[in-house]
Amino acid sequence: MRIQRQVVDYALQRRSLLAEVYAGRTGVSEVCDAGPYLLRAAKFHGRASSVVCPICRKEQLTLVSWVFGDRLGPVSGSARTSEELVRLAATHEEFSVHVVEVCRTCSWNHLVQSYVLGVAPAPKRTRRSSQAHEASRRTAIE
Ligand SMILES: [Zn+2]
Repeated sequence: MRIQRQVVDYALQRRSLLAEVYAGRTGVSEVCDAGPYLLRAAKFHGRASSVVCPICRKEQLTLVSWVFGDRLGPVSGSARTSEELVRLAATHEEFSVHVVEVCRTCSWNHLVQSYVLGVAPAPKRTRRSSQAHEASRRTAIE
């Protein structure tokens, strides 16, 4: 998607966490803790990746995109498919997307990437001018 902005990649954090696990300093149970909600989201809203699970190596990871934003209303905090993201991006003001990889075999999960989508707020139509506009309209009505 070319409309992604403020993309943040978490590959470094992922690598250092995995190094901790491989070295035995962090328990597998601590990192393979995907809850039922996340696993269900992976099943119904996830998309397959080509990356094999770094913990169990039994399957390819599923990517789940979570959307967050005040402007999304009840949609905020839910998992969305790629098609839904495109639709939301065209119709909503800025919101953030967190992409989480999930292994549906061993429950490994980690934040992969976050970015911003949505219609950028109109440039420099300041709050003051819209308030002034609102006030003048109210005066006209009264
Ligand atoms: Zn796994």
